[in-house]
Amino acid sequence: MPPALFHMHTNTENGNSDSQKAQSVSVVTGGAGFLGSHLVDYLLNKGHRVIAIDNLITGRVQNIAHLAGNENFKFIKQDVTQYMFLSEKIDYVWHFASPASPIDYAEFPIQTLKVGSLGTHKALGLAMKNRARFLLTSTSEIYGDPLRHPQSEDYWGNVNSVGPRSCYDEAKRFAEAMTMAYHREHGLETRIVRIFNTYGPRMRLNDGRVVPAFISQALKKEPITLYGEGNQTRSFCYCSDLIEGIYRLMMSDYCYPVNIGNPNELSIKQFAELILELTGAELELVHKDLPTDDPKQRRPDITKARNLLQWEPNVDLRDGLKKTIEWFSGQPL
Ligand code: UDP
Repeated sequence: MPPALFHMHTNTENGNSDSQKAQSVSVVTGGAGFLGSHLVDYLLNKGHRVIAIDNLITGRVQNIAHLAGNENFKFIKQDVTQYMFLSEKIDYVWHFASPASPIDYAEFPIQTLKVGSLGTHKALGLAMKNRARFLLTSTSEIYGDPLRHPQSEDYWGNVNSVGPRSCYDEAKRFAEAMTMAYHREHGLETRIVRIFNTYGPRMRLNDGRVVPAFISQALKKEPITLYGEGNQTRSFCYCSDLIEGIYRLMMSDYCYPVNIGNPNELSIKQFAELILELTGAELELVHKDLPTDDPKQRRPDITKARNLLQWEPNVDLRDGLKKTIEWFSGQPL
């Protein structure tokens, strides 16, 4: 069956109006998702022509609705584990498609495994056909429940291959291996980013991750659900910082994994208190069981990104959260 195709034409202010200069063409898998759609906006602003592909199981049309009528943008509703029929010449493939929250992997474990494995294979094949440059969005989950802290790229990780998160972790580990194999065997230009916890507008309110969970609970004046004692740590990166780092990585010449995230680490309890402070809510913290294999600590070592890409995050957590809370306040709760 041919994929459904929405091609939206009309005038736009976005994009590269210089018809003499060859316009870069980018394919973004998962282009209707939280991060994929932010990348699409970023690339259109850089003058790329962008083809977003998404099967919308966790992505949402609302994230790209503002691009309707943009002649540099095309949306294809398709599962990227299936062959992608694209006739035009592609310069960059950005493989962002995947469920990305623990409750999403729990709901779609097989699709999570398939998009990380078969979807990565198809996206690499698309890049090969075009001799395009390929970027894989890998994850800090590669490190599992890490025994080394902070996590640098040379740490091999501590992953439970049969636990509830394994569908995501192992698929991404396979995806990294597949990406390196295409690089080694076919000489394809490849990049691997390991994304740490990221937040911002367009996260799904009900995706179960801690940022939308706590913000929506605070806005709805419901108790804040702290898993375990809340002593586990995370470090949160604002979406615009992350996208800038990923773009720089794609444009670099480095083929090994690079961590992109914010090294500002705090406990989940401290994070809950910060959300209460910023929303002005006075709510009870209720403790729930810590999910199986929940990593106890996580903080990226970003030395490599600093040195190779001259990148580091610059959005302060409070500022990023204020923007995120404002955006969530405008959404149906
Ligand atoms: N968490 C929590 N309450 C919630 C949702 C998450 O305490 O309502 C905790 C979760 O156990 C984890 C951390 O917040 O330790 C971050 O969870 P998230 O699902 O955002 O992503 P993860 O970093 O675990 O992939």
